[in-house]
Amino acid sequence: MKSGLIFNIQKFSLQDGPGIRTTVFFLGCPLRCQWCHNPESQSFHPRLLLATRRCIGCGRCQFACPHQATRKRSLCQHCGHCATACPTLAREMVGRRVTVSEVMDTINQDRVFYEESGGGVTFSGGEPLAQPDFLLALLQTCRKQALHTAVDTSGYAPLASLEAIAPYTDLFLYDLKLLAEEKHRYFTGVSNQLILSNLKWLVRQKKNFFLRLPIIPGITDTDEQITLLQSHLRELGQVKQINLLPYHALAQDKYRRLGQPYPLEGTPEPSPEQMQAIAEALKPYCEQIQIGG
Ligand code: SF4
Ligand code: SF4
Repeated sequence: MKSGLIFNIQKFSLQDGPGIRTTVFFLGCPLRCQWCHNPESQSFHPRLLLATRRCIGCGRCQFACPHQATRKRSLCQHCGHCATACPTLAREMVGRRVTVSEVMDTINQDRVFYEESGGGVTFSGGEPLAQPDFLLALLQTCRKQALHTAVDTSGYAPLASLEAIAPYTDLFLYDLKLLAEEKHRYFTGVSNQLILSNLKWLVRQKKNFFLRLPIIPGITDTDEQITLLQSHLRELGQVKQINLLPYHALAQDKYRRLGQPYPLEGTPEPSPEQMQAIAEALKPYCEQIQIGG
């Protein structure tokens, strides 16, 4: 039985594709987007998350830790012993290994809601294509069980992985971040060349996809980016749906709990008027444009 690493399964999701869905969040991502709202998903290994306001000072974590790391976070090896000992969830491990059948058991609990709402299952992350065998096994099982599937991806994966899962994926939720390559490298840590060529492949294969564009003030909403987007969309041909995802700073607390600095400190959220102006600028290039997931 195939297994993989996930960090969450969210039921009754309305933001990750059509209808009511269950979203399975894979652990691990090769990108480091500065606006990432799931920083706990980036590492390919389970990590310790702290919520110090839940701490009652019982000291059990100190006895449990083999590395004397409870007072010095830089020594932490993310082994999880302190989380097991902590009675208040002040210490919590993010990420766990699960089998395909364990995930399918959870997915199948809500089958009636998918059928009534036209929903299904979404594989997100992290980057689901970074665990291609596990993703493929889940998609194939969903197909056998007649469940609608969506894959939410950065597109940063070998073409062979995309080719393998495409026949079993009903819808791709494809992120497009920055078109200027140097800026893409700076703000996400990787080049966008593979992402753009994989997107062209999806278009050539006539695969069903929605584009998801994160709107980060001063980064992805600049005149340069909007102009590049317009010409890129013109090249791709009519896109079925674009989702504009407005930046929010709600993830700041997660960065604190991981002991990491928040890279976009002070970045404002885009106003509804700014979001509307971007929607108007991109409207001619897609059948439907939505603000939000
Ligand atoms: S995760 Fe392991 S190494 Fe880190 S503080 Fe807890 S017990 Fe110590
Ligand atoms: S075990 Fe949990 S509640 Fe007790 S001192 Fe450690 S972090 Fe605080």
